[in-house]
Amino acid sequence: MVLNPVISKLAGKLVVLASASPRRREILTNVGLRFEVVPSWFKETLDKSLFGSPQDYAVETAKQKALEVAKRMPFKHLKTPDIVIGADTVVTVDGLILEKPVDKQDAYRMLSRLNGKEHSVFTGVAIILCHEKEGKNIEYNAVDFYEETRVKFADLSEEMLWEYIHSGEPMDKAGGYGIQALGGMLVEYVHGDFLNVVGFPLNHFCKQLNKIFNGSAGTLAVPVDRTSRTADGGPDRPSRREGTTEAAQASGRAERTQIAAEPERRAGGSTAFPHRIAHLLDGFKASKALFAASALKVFDLLDAGHGLTAVQVAEKIAASVVGVERLLDAAVSLGLLEKVQRGEVAVYRNTEEASRYLISTSDLSLHGYIVHSNDVLWPLFTHLEHGVREGSSQHERAFGKQPQDLFQDAYYSSEERKLRFLDAMHSISKVTAGDVATAFDLSGFRTACDVGGCTGAMAYEFAKAYPGMSITVFDLPAVIELNHHFQPHDQDCSRVTFVAGDFFKDDLPKADLYILARILHDWSDDKVHILLRKLSEACSPGGAVLVSEILLEEGRRGPRRALLQALSMTPGSQRSGSEYCLLLKAHGFSQVHVRHTGNFLDAVLGVRL
Ligand code: SAM
Repeated sequence: MVLNPVISKLAGKLVVLASASPRRREILTNVGLRFEVVPSWFKETLDKSLFGSPQDYAVETAKQKALEVAKRMPFKHLKTPDIVIGADTVVTVDGLILEKPVDKQDAYRMLSRLNGKEHSVFTGVAIILCHEKEGKNIEYNAVDFYEETRVKFADLSEEMLWEYIHSGEPMDKAGGYGIQALGGMLVEYVHGDFLNVVGFPLNHFCKQLNKIFNGSAGTLAVPVDRTSRTADGGPDRPSRREGTTEAAQASGRAERTQIAAEPERRAGGSTAFPHRIAHLLDGFKASKALFAASALKVFDLLDAGHGLTAVQVAEKIAASVVGVERLLDAAVSLGLLEKVQRGEVAVYRNTEEASRYLISTSDLSLHGYIVHSNDVLWPLFTHLEHGVREGSSQHERAFGKQPQDLFQDAYYSSEERKLRFLDAMHSISKVTAGDVATAFDLSGFRTACDVGGCTGAMAYEFAKAYPGMSITVFDLPAVIELNHHFQPHDQDCSRVTFVAGDFFKDDLPKADLYILARILHDWSDDKVHILLRKLSEACSPGGAVLVSEILLEEGRRGPRRALLQALSMTPGSQRSGSEYCLLLKAHGFSQVHVRHTGNFLDAVLGVRL
């Protein structure tokens, strides 16, 4: 038995399981391992699209969970563990990663995807070895691996699925089922390690421990003590693994693929597939598939619960069946649609995310911004090489004329075009406004002016968050005259008023708080200074300005959205939190605070003393 000698090696060591899962705890307790449980605070928010495979994602999540605990314990628990074990289980089917369902509908979607099919269960495991060095420095080394098990679901009736969902069992389980209890009845067969499906691949774990503690040359622990952290203290995006040597890659760790900036080498010396580059190569096709499906209103059509076949969709949008079928299948592969078999035919329906964000009439619809991306940003980015050479916007090349400023072209054209632009601004604002409004406690301000507040989307959200606040939306006359198109029907709008004017030329309405959301990054430095000077003069002591933008990380290393947005080559620039602090301080706002919201836009509050 491999485990006993390993267990004796662990005697006297502080072993920690960085997981709240009772199933993992039980598996390890049952084999006599003595350990403490410290659930990880790491939020499982890694961008799945950045990973070459589901197992890479599971391993990285396991590693981040374990590292978070390993790094927290010396400070919060005042003791340093010897070993921290992290694990993450994902279920994959049809190229999609299924984690834990968020509600019963989500569980139903997951289980009907698995119904009658074979799927894979991957558990990624990370073992973090912590060594306290001189001067209290701690070195962290990681060994990680994954295990795959193939599971086949029987053909289950709708009644059975719903009965299982109503049992409540699916809710905290990856893929929406627990094989060790009622969910076992859904399963026809299992190929591989059963405990891996329960949540922990015990056998593989023991083999790895044996390699670590019995000195097998097959396993190399990789230093991870230089894991970088983002400004808000959360773990950074997955990056090329630091400290990884070719020897490590060629060792026992070759069983897992890595996300690498350079092509990686496998044991045999052949070059592995460069997933990140392949992902970027296809990125434009994926964007265009989303744009085309939105422009053709495919998500609106599929809103009616039961789904439609490709032939039905083609008929409704007067398009070719072959074209529609390809588009729908591509959308399934992108996780935007689901494809389910109904007897002889396949029907397509929206994922929950598509229903929420892609249907043009949904409350949080991004449809307007997607149409804008297709009609305006796509042609602009087509000329990016010229943009880079010339350092200027490619508006003239893309559209045949150079407007005086960014907004002129959209506003002084047809009403339809203007509404489309406003719709784009409105849709992004709707999704972000709640988080911006509540990034700080602004309840002390009685009046606010949303400068360049467009359709009022932000202002309505401020009115919701602060019942004692009245907000004036200040924007160009061409915008203000259309505000009735965007008025919410489910809210008392009496505290939101609109004033037309030009923020460079006209007096601003008096207010305690001035909001500048997605304004400053569009303008050249001299215009930014003109505007801030004006706001500073309009502010009384105790008054404030709230700037909302995507904030750059220090050293301009991210976030990607901001760096890609900068490529549109407007005269303005993207700034970091500390650059906005300096800017606001230079205009008399002496108390400045930065908040990352986790949404599209962050927030910087400057108070005038
Ligand atoms: N603040 C809104 C948001 O976050 O959704 C809109 C941001 S949009 C990028 C810029 C806004 O500034 C538009 O509504 C535009 O009409 C307005 N704007 C541009 N130039 C302006 C000016 N000179 N005076 C007033 N508003 C202006």
